Amino acid sequence: RAKSLGRDRFELFSDEMQNQILTAKRIGDELREALEKRHFVPYYQPQFDARTLEITGVETLVRWDHPERGVLAPMQFLKVAEDINLLAAIDRMVVEMAYADFRAWQRQGLAVPKISVNISSRRLRDPQLVSDLREMDIPRGVMSVELLESIFLDEFEDEVAETIAALNDLGIDIEIDDFGTGHASIIGLLKLNPARLKIDRALVGPIPESSKQQKLVRAIIDIGHSLNIKVVAEGVETWAHAALLADLGCDFLQGYVLAKPMSRQDFETFARGGFNVPRGFSDARRMR
Ligand code: C2E
Ligand code: MG
Ligand code: MG
Ligand code: MG
Repeated sequence: RAKSLGRDRFELFSDEMQNQILTAKRIGDELREALEKRHFVPYYQPQFDARTLEITGVETLVRWDHPERGVLAPMQFLKVAEDINLLAAIDRMVVEMAYADFRAWQRQGLAVPKISVNISSRRLRDPQLVSDLREMDIPRGVMSVELLESIFLDEFEDEVAETIAALNDLGIDIEIDDFGTGHASIIGLLKLNPARLKIDRALVGPIPESSKQQKLVRAIIDIGHSLNIKVVAEGVETWAHAALLADLGCDFLQGYVLAKPMSRQDFETFARGGFNVPRGFSDARRMR
């Protein structure tokens, strides 16, 4: 049986699968080159105080500035990067670039209190993570790392617990990303000692239509607050959502209606422009 499978191997792959394999291989080669040539760029999406709409920080989101195909989103390459073991190297480069930009903003007097970066579970397990961050000499309380709940799919190893403790020692905060969609969210709140949790947009999106969903979001916010954890809503797409989330007690808002992820230059223009509370938000609040 195995033999016949071996001989007929090519028939096991449809044309479409063949194409996918070729594409993955090509993306892999290009990714290695992109890493060498530093074709990855950080984009920044501002986060806002849910009451005043002041900028409280930015999330760093990597983009691949591809010479032929333009600016590519993580969905188009992170999976391949992970499969061929390049994700930790990408994460490392992104943190360096983001922190360099952040320091430039401080020098220019741009008011950006805080910056966060997304860290893959590979990078979290990279023994160099803590030493790299220590060498960067980051002041306490200005940097946080966003971790996916799914790191708990593996057992919570002692090694990871040590890393978390070392990050806390350096004054780097932990944020739980995509809260509500993983598998061990609640236990994560105890073990990770996060400063913030970010409610996934799958939960935030439908809230105005569903009172059950509203109750769930309120309960998550209350759990967070009772543990001294600040709550961020991600994927806020309408002013009605923004106003409702503020009412539910959410601390910070992030989403397209407020601001999309932007290149460094665009973000600097945005931040310099001074972000006055938009009419849409005050109208939505008044109507509640
Ligand atoms: P995430 O960390 O949960 O980031 C939020 C994603 O939602 C971003 O997608 C952002 O552009 C998008 N988003 C923000 N506001 C809205 C909204 O109002 N509506 C909708 N529909 N989407 C919104 P993006 O930039 O494509 O990143 C996707 C994911 O890729 C991120 O999800 C994160 O898990 C991962 N990622 C991004 N940068 C890095 C990185 O440097 N390292 C690692 N390991 N992962 C990264
Ligand atoms: Mg994130
Ligand atoms: Mg998220
Ligand atoms: Mg996500």
